[in-house]
Amino acid sequence: MAIAVHPGSFDPPTKGHLDLVLRGRKIFDKVVVVVGINSRKQPLFSASQRVELFRASLLEVGVSDVEVRSWEGLTIDVCRALGATVLLRGLRQGGDFEVEQSIALMNRRMAPEIETVYLNCREEFLGLTSTSVREISRMGGDVSPFVPKAVVAALHSLQRGL
Ligand code: ADP
Repeated sequence: MAIAVHPGSFDPPTKGHLDLVLRGRKIFDKVVVVVGINSRKQPLFSASQRVELFRASLLEVGVSDVEVRSWEGLTIDVCRALGATVLLRGLRQGGDFEVEQSIALMNRRMAPEIETVYLNCREEFLGLTSTSVREISRMGGDVSPFVPKAVVAALHSLQRGL
């Protein structure tokens, strides 16, 4: 059984992330979304909020068989803990490739039993990043074309200081 881990910051999850997971779900027996905890970064949403937002985003599209959890540490270690043999990542534009390649090469040196698999981003999500969503929201723009409804609501709450 091929279990794939889809790791990321997901601060916040976008429609691009969601699309990747939905497509990965058709290829692998099980997909686990892993929200990375990086104590050196100051995220907009806490790890538990990001987990909840991803879960809510999946429920919006009627998906209940994708596990979402957080993890602090190396991605290869969460893969090993879950018995996953695939690291699922997305590729947007050229710049992603170089970054992804160096991460994948390091991961392979540390864990040769784990394969990194990339899915090409859909055209409509090519320019979509969590960073741009945070910026648009901070400036009062409409993020609903880019993120699931649960994320729109969470960003609105933040904007209103709730
Ligand atoms: P990281 O901080 O690890 O880059 P992200 O949350 O930005 O985490 O992205 C997690 C994964 O989702 C990465 O593989 C990234 O390439 C992919 N991804 C990000 N945005 C999109 C998108 N718009 N379409 C498809 N995949 C995406």
